Amino acid sequence: MSTRNTRCMVQNSAGGRAFALDPFARLERFLILGADGPTYYAAQRTLALENAACVTTCLALDGARTVKTIADVSNAGRAPKNDAALFALAMACGAPADAMRRAALNALPRVCRTGTHLFQFAETVGRFRRWGRGLRRAVAAWYLDLGTDALVRQVLKYGQRQGWSHRDVLRLSHAAPRTPAQQAVFRWLTAKEITATDAGLEALSEACRAFEALRARSVTEAEVIASVRRHKFTHEMLPTEWKRSPAVWAALLEDMPLTAMLRGLAQMTSVGLLTPGSEAAAFVGRKLTDAAALGRARIHPLAVLSALRVYRSGRGLAGKLTWTSERGLCDALERCFDLSFRAITPSGKRHLLALDVSGSMSCGEVGGSPGLTPAMASAAMAMATLRVERHCELMGFSHQLVDLPIRREHTLTQVMKIVQDVPMGATDCALPMLEAARTGRAVDVFVVYTDNETWFGKVHPHLALRQYREKTGIAAKLAVVGLTATQFTIADPDDPGSLDFVGFDAAAPAVMADFARAR
Ligand code: CA
Repeated sequence: MSTRNTRCMVQNSAGGRAFALDPFARLERFLILGADGPTYYAAQRTLALENAACVTTCLALDGARTVKTIADVSNAGRAPKNDAALFALAMACGAPADAMRRAALNALPRVCRTGTHLFQFAETVGRFRRWGRGLRRAVAAWYLDLGTDALVRQVLKYGQRQGWSHRDVLRLSHAAPRTPAQQAVFRWLTAKEITATDAGLEALSEACRAFEALRARSVTEAEVIASVRRHKFTHEMLPTEWKRSPAVWAALLEDMPLTAMLRGLAQMTSVGLLTPGSEAAAFVGRKLTDAAALGRARIHPLAVLSALRVYRSGRGLAGKLTWTSERGLCDALERCFDLSFRAITPSGKRHLLALDVSGSMSCGEVGGSPGLTPAMASAAMAMATLRVERHCELMGFSHQLVDLPIRREHTLTQVMKIVQDVPMGATDCALPMLEAARTGRAVDVFVVYTDNETWFGKVHPHLALRQYREKTGIAAKLAVVGLTATQFTIADPDDPGSLDFVGFDAAAPAVMADFARAR
């Protein structure tokens, strides 16, 4: 171990030694994993403060790169939730340097893609700056730069959230309409009046009137269905009583966005629309396995996994809803999960996937998905690689090797059950490398899925990796997949053959294959 490495190692939350993650790698971890759940060792509040400090550090180091990272991670759909990106962008909008604030405000439309995002941003940004001219102009531009159809859709679909409505935001932004359509929409939002005096606004006023009629509950089922078909209304726009009607759901399904389809599987099953062998079930199965459409809709693998877990269980997380899951749709969801990661080109390298199943990995939740522990999430994530790489072994470890009978034919449900049932223990992240060296296994890439809270063994992981390379003559690489938004990593920052990845980054398995392939 070089003196330099010794010096840049820090104490992790478990009392062991780890490297401190590079601030920009840490920023990515925060943007993707968020800090909205505690870990075994760190409280949620501590994590949130640490991550806020990390954003400040990155802004001070390189403001332009920070804003670009926030916008890129958010816009590429790499994170299961947009919350951390919205928070970080709001912080950047309050940065001390003019140029940095401007860059952050310019990135607003890339990070705030829906009305809900905009409300969340409006709520947060007030903590970091006042509503001065720059902010007002950027928020006004958010509305004014939308095309008419997109504007109508945003205002109808995302009415209000967290105590904010379009009316509030428009007032704060002082947005002045540039077109008759914008004028009509703004008037409808602020005064609930709609006029169709100008040619071309009839469709707009008709949609607004149909929406008002829905809200006033003065419509029949046939009229609801007609409105859904004609104005492409989504289920969020409908009053609850219509959500018990299979006919209304059938109409909604015709143009349903994929995200809504994933979330609505249980409801569409329980109202009796998605029955085994039905046309609707076949339609949903086809949609959920359309790779191109999944990419366009930025469907995140964690959203698919959550949908699968809920749908498979046959009962809602809250409420009394129950249903019988259908085999065909479960299979479609399994396929959908694989497809929702960015397309992976297999590297053909010999992989050893090592899952940390120590006690800390069974605490907390990943990406705000209830009940999804880091151990379960890492097992699901490992499947994305296991299913495509031909030479791939999988093992579990805590302070000892743990037998994990996981094979590529297994379903995600089976895999998560296996991980949940294993005995837990202390953490020694060097074990995968030590074991491979001991048994003379040929490995090109070790992939360790962990919270980086290693503390048990006598040999540090980066030394175990070096010993493995020396003993076998294989220039083995180490990919460390971090499942919690902490600042620690077992990957040696000075070793080009070691690299950090973020757990449940939709791009991670594809980038990992590139890393495995690179010379
Ligand atoms: Ca542990």
